[in-house]
Amino acid sequence: MKKNFYSHIMPTYGERNLEFAAGKGCYLYTPSGKKYLDFAGGIAVNSLGHCHPKLVNVLKKQSETLWHTSNLYRNNTQEIFAKELCKKTFADKVFFTNSGAEAIECGLKVVKSFWNLKNKNKKNIITFKGAFHGRTFAALSAQKNKKYSEGFGPLLGGFKNIPFNDEKALIKSINNETAAILIEPIQGEGGIRPASLQFLKYIRELCNKKNILLFLDEVQSGFGRSGKLYSYEWAQIKPDILATAKGIGSGFPLGACLATNDASKGMVQGKHGSTYGGNPLAVSVGREVLKIISNKKFLKNVDLISRYLWKNLKKLEETYEEIIEVRGAGLLLGIKTKKNNVMISNLLRKHKLLSVPAGDNVIRLAPPLIIKKKHVDEAIKILNETFKKIK
Ligand code: PLP
Repeated sequence: MKKNFYSHIMPTYGERNLEFAAGKGCYLYTPSGKKYLDFAGGIAVNSLGHCHPKLVNVLKKQSETLWHTSNLYRNNTQEIFAKELCKKTFADKVFFTNSGAEAIECGLKVVKSFWNLKNKNKKNIITFKGAFHGRTFAALSAQKNKKYSEGFGPLLGGFKNIPFNDEKALIKSINNETAAILIEPIQGEGGIRPASLQFLKYIRELCNKKNILLFLDEVQSGFGRSGKLYSYEWAQIKPDILATAKGIGSGFPLGACLATNDASKGMVQGKHGSTYGGNPLAVSVGREVLKIISNKKFLKNVDLISRYLWKNLKKLEETYEEIIEVRGAGLLLGIKTKKNNVMISNLLRKHKLLSVPAGDNVIRLAPPLIIKKKHVDEAIKILNETFKKIK
């Protein structure tokens, strides 16, 4: 890479000097052919790895048939995909988007439109410290994290941000104006912090008791990443609304807002729209991803391999003082370190292992869900060598 390279891209991502030209399975290749083990997974996106043959086929076929018509017209693949998603989840209705933040926006409109019909006093949404829901104004307003919202005020009102995993704080924050509770079952950007199953159950009970909508953000934790199709299944609860994205398209831009019939009552004709959301290319890929990931055997494998990775990471935690904690669930795992996480992530990269820094000084591992033992062993070897050096 040339020094002082001038880029016409807005520098919001800082300097990027690592480039990939190709990807296959769990590996990425630079233009000169250097091979990297991908435990970043495009930030928990490449659920089926790179260029999965079945996805390539489906996309090729669709690209030769029809790309885009807009949502002015019926899209049969979209209809079938929505039906399949509902069959496998709590939901009755789906709105397709292109990203996670758009799925969140739609979910917030589901909340607002529901209470606009039922009780106009209910206008506050409870969110949690450390949350990340995206970069739109509503998401910035919901998560109330200065790191992302500094300089973008005034933000939207109507969000109450309270401590995570704290039942007392939650009950105290609820009143007659509480419309919904929005929570990530596993906080991703915030530092791979899982909500306890007990906390999730408690939230569901409170929502039932106090007439509040439960809105889950499973953009990062969903689509098989936890070893279940959606991680709420571990807590044996069901939300009223859910935002999904990332893994659903395995790299093709796709997201969705799922809701029950009751919760989505206000989302009638004219209330929302998207030019591209759920276009033929996106939903044909999404259908194939769902078909592969929702298979019981596939999810069982995710669970088994994630336990193997967990066990090996815990051994590193015992070995190296530098590691404060290994945490997370499924294949969304974090290593909280004493030294700077970005520095360590860069060192891992030098050893050809890709990871993603997250909040709270955590190194995040979100590999493709198709990893095998040999990939885990390779990653653990690199982690081991790296931590040995910085000891
Ligand atoms: N919600 C969660 C939990 C996320 O992790 C993200 C992205 O990292 C988003 C929402 C926003 O998704 P997107 O970047 O696709 O807009």
